[in-house]
Amino acid sequence: MEKILKALKDSEAETFSGLFEFLRFPSVSADPQSAGDVRRCAEWLAEKMKMDGFAASVEETGGHPAVLGRWDKNPGAPTVLIYGHYDVQPAVKSDGWNHEPFTPVIDGEKLYCRGSSDDKGQFWCHYAAAKAHLKAYGKLPVNVIFLVEGEEEANTGKFDNYVRESAKKLACDAVIVSDGPMYGDGFPALTYSLRGLAYMEFTVTGPDRDLHSGVMGGIVMNPAQALAKMITSLKDEEGRIMVEGFFDGVAPVAQWERDNWKKLPFDEAASAKEIGVETLAGEVGYTWLERLWARPTLDVNGMWSGYIGEGSKTIIPSAASAKISCRLVPGQDPDRIAELLEAKMRSVMPKGVTMTAKMLAKAQPVLLPYSGPAVEGALAAMEAAYGREPFRIREGATIPVVHTLAESLGAPVVLAGLGRVSDRIHGPDEHFRLEDLRSGMEFSARLLTELAGRL
Ligand SMILES: [Zn+2]
Repeated sequence: MEKILKALKDSEAETFSGLFEFLRFPSVSADPQSAGDVRRCAEWLAEKMKMDGFAASVEETGGHPAVLGRWDKNPGAPTVLIYGHYDVQPAVKSDGWNHEPFTPVIDGEKLYCRGSSDDKGQFWCHYAAAKAHLKAYGKLPVNVIFLVEGEEEANTGKFDNYVRESAKKLACDAVIVSDGPMYGDGFPALTYSLRGLAYMEFTVTGPDRDLHSGVMGGIVMNPAQALAKMITSLKDEEGRIMVEGFFDGVAPVAQWERDNWKKLPFDEAASAKEIGVETLAGEVGYTWLERLWARPTLDVNGMWSGYIGEGSKTIIPSAASAKISCRLVPGQDPDRIAELLEAKMRSVMPKGVTMTAKMLAKAQPVLLPYSGPAVEGALAAMEAAYGREPFRIREGATIPVVHTLAESLGAPVVLAGLGRVSDRIHGPDEHFRLEDLRSGMEFSARLLTELAGRL
């Protein structure tokens, strides 16, 4: 391992210049005008891989292309697939950046650029680590597949289809995903569960037009008030979701998880202050981390009705709408939750209005292995690279592709975030700490060796 770590160190200038080139592509997947830049970025990456001794191709997905790299010259050794994405969120300097967003700049201990943490920089940790193995020994301890998508931030589902259709080509013994933060302020952690999503829009309609609230007021059900009342019935005073069947299949938080999470620092007052509220809230009977990670949620994301302009307009509105989303935990199914939620809304709907419901988005919750050779290997590599015992955590948000990778490839997926919550991903001044970049590279270099001996 010493020789590989030395190779990593010796090639640091080259690693940085490669990453800088990668970062300069404004590969914004959501903006159709950037499609050329997105493709050029993919082509550049594939070329780079070829120059560095990997087989590589630009893969068509029906959307933005993916890049597939491969090194398979170690017959008999296990195959590790490393996932990343080269597309990024939009960024313009006027959003509040201190530097040009697509000009990488090292300022102090941080590398600033769109994509530096999400996810070009995190992918680069793995890429540089594989190169260091090649440099040190002329070979890798495992066979490696790099799968780098260009659609993550656009989330059209096309890449997921590509993964399903290419399962044979992508066959592997473990999947590594580094596209997120560590825990808190730099505590290394593996994530073994992600929440899913059921996103609904409801519209309650009363009269077929806005009515005069004097001429008709008192004899008509007001859709805005009807909807407000219906929404209120979805939760009780203690923050518990009151939708029949909603919790069916939700596993209680295991004792080992409870014990583990108790060791994790969570500063309630600081968290409240950071978002500008006096106190945090949520479901009574659960700790903050349990509420964030292991309990489903139900939130109104937006609601609108009637007159919202200047001054007064005395109407009874014709209709009222709300967008409501639920974060789901393992054991729940988005389609089932959508049905239950709609049934509840209908059951409390007052007479005199009608309702339509539609599902806008969904994602399956994910439960990954939290033990087994791949996880143990990653934990060992993490402990050695970061010099502290890593945590095993869940995550409150959704990374839809993880479900697709786990389901289609049938291999254990290890989620090892190498960034920090404070990296400002998706916002101005996105950055990646140099120490996290270096630790991430060391982690990955050790990980390949660990997995070779365990898978
Ligand atoms: Zn990302």
